[in-house]
Amino acid sequence: MCFFDQHRFVCGDWKWGHFRQHCNREYRTGETCGMKLIMTTVPVGQKCKLCEKIDTKMRRRAAEVDRVQRWQRDGGRFRASIEKSVDIIKGLDAEIYELGCERTRRVQGIGSAH
Ligand SMILES: [Zn+2]
Repeated sequence: MCFFDQHRFVCGDWKWGHFRQHCNREYRTGETCGMKLIMTTVPVGQKCKLCEKIDTKMRRRAAEVDRVQRWQRDGGRFRASIEKSVDIIKGLDAEIYELGCERTRRVQGIGSAH
């Protein structure tokens, strides 16, 4: 059981940080034993990469929805643009869903490493 820092993001996700200290078991070999324990939790003042990606796509999606609503108020004139935007929104939904799954998988992966 070797000690590492834990970097905690504002979104609640975290990742392992720097290696800090060997446990007695592996002290001689100079290797880490593979069992990670938290030494210190270091708060990171931003969201993790994955959540930032999700946020970016959510903002993009909201902008598209805005555009569609504006065009719809204009009544039928922008049908082709609306269809194109709806496709983009569907694509973003799929990407956001995938990123969400990836986030869940990662949280479970870290959890089972204990
Ligand atoms: Zn996150």
